[in-house]
Amino acid sequence: MTQTTLSRRGFMKAAAATGAALAAASVPLLETADAAFADGSVERVMHKTACHGCTNCCPVRVYTEDGRVVKIEGDPDGPLNKGGVCLKCLSQIQTVYSPRHVLHPMKRVGERGENKWRPSAGTRPWTWPASRSPRP
Ligand code: SF4
Repeated sequence: MTQTTLSRRGFMKAAAATGAALAAASVPLLETADAAFADGSVERVMHKTACHGCTNCCPVRVYTEDGRVVKIEGDPDGPLNKGGVCLKCLSQIQTVYSPRHVLHPMKRVGERGENKWRPSAGTRPWTWPASRSPRP
């Protein structure tokens, strides 16, 4: 196994060179992506809510643009988390918009382990039969 040595000074030089190369190549940065928001054509709305990633229910701020979640951050007014959240919370945007996100109660149609499912008949998205509701 080969061992590479990189000094702190060498690392800083490489990082500066990489940054300069990206800037020269006009790689879109976050500021570019937020241009539409900055010019006021998109309304960003902040919603105070709680993360449901676990039973801590940390207070969070969820930002939406045109009804689509664009950012989640911890709520600094939260008495316990004081603005801190874990990665599980921050990754919930990916969970919500994942094509594999289950939007309906599903019923197994194949044998156990075949992973064949269909939306349960007579149910609407985000509704559960009262007898199986996760909440009282
Ligand atoms: S931020 Fe993390 S610890 Fe807090 S409720 Fe969400 S998953 Fe749980």
